[in-house]
Amino acid sequence: MLDEPMRFHTSLRIGGPAEMLVFPSSRDELKGILAIAHSAGVPLFLIGQGTNLLVKDEGIKGVVVNLARFDPEIRFLSDHTVKSGPGVPVVKLAREAINRGLGGLEFAIGIPGSLGGALYMNAGAYGFSIGERVTEVATLDFLGNERIRSREELEFFYRKSTFQDEKSIIVEIFLALYPANREELQTKAAQIQKMRRSKQPHKPSAGSVFRNPPGNPAGLLIEKAGVKGHVIGGAQVSTLHGNFIVNTGGATAEDVLNLVEWMRTRVRETQGTELELEIKVVGRDGIERGR
Ligand SMILES: Cc1cc2nc3c(=O)[nH]c(=O)nc-3n(C[C@H](O)[C@H](O)[C@H](O)COP(=O)(O)OP(=O)(O)OC[C@H]3O[C@@H](n4cnc5c(N)ncnc54)[C@H](O)[C@@H]3O)c2cc1C
Repeated sequence: MLDEPMRFHTSLRIGGPAEMLVFPSSRDELKGILAIAHSAGVPLFLIGQGTNLLVKDEGIKGVVVNLARFDPEIRFLSDHTVKSGPGVPVVKLAREAINRGLGGLEFAIGIPGSLGGALYMNAGAYGFSIGERVTEVATLDFLGNERIRSREELEFFYRKSTFQDEKSIIVEIFLALYPANREELQTKAAQIQKMRRSKQPHKPSAGSVFRNPPGNPAGLLIEKAGVKGHVIGGAQVSTLHGNFIVNTGGATAEDVLNLVEWMRTRVRETQGTELELEIKVVGRDGIERGR
């Protein structure tokens, strides 16, 4: 797809055009794309399901590789390990594990996005995160060279992973699960889902905008700063959850970035805390660092 608006590929429904958007489904297809991009000197940007991204109105230069359709296979192995491709939706994986009486992924019920994106972000909730379950990950570098790493060779912190410091594509993931009572897992999953439904907005968003500063949920700081419900253009600080910005219809990335700055300033001035972004802001040259 050429000049494809990224708003069709992000949960915020915002984003200017990708010069080229491709959807490889296999390793061979992906390697072919990498070879062409390398020989043409074209930059690459990766996306999963676009649920943690704010793509700027200027769009993205080069080739955007969407991995949401890449290797959709989930294989449960005899030692309670699951092997999965990066395009698999995390919720689907968690549901299938629960239905087989395998525990360890219940926290992920309700976290949108692909497994590859979840690993990159070390997505988590309720005190658990995906990195804790990882036993092995295969990646390709942008030249197509494969690397297989065990858990000990990878680092996962609060919404951070090794993959954020390198140019690599997660292509295969092994997670360790454990046998558990299926009904108990299903009950836990239903409770988590209910909790999410009551606390999170239903309008387009990218989840939590800011990282939680130690000991202080960002949502509470924002609420105390009195900016819940504040509107700039089509973007609004959710009235339900202070750490969510929602697209009320027709919001631009500029609206969201202006709102982000307003929230930061109000929290700094009233609470004395500097908020750091959790969502990734993507411009012409990929992820913008230091926001
Ligand atoms: C309503 C809502 C609720 C949310 N709740 C939570 C929550 O509870 N906890 C939480 O942690 N997050 C939450 N999020 C944020 C988001 O769902 C997660 O960060 C998710 O894991 C991102 O996955 P994705 O496939 O959408 O990644 P994308 O947004 O597409 O990409 C995120 C980053 O990962 C990189 N990436 C994607 N795939 C690969 C790959 N295969 N190899 C290398 N890099 C890759 C991209 O380049 C990008 O930098 C929420 C979002 C929404 C909209």
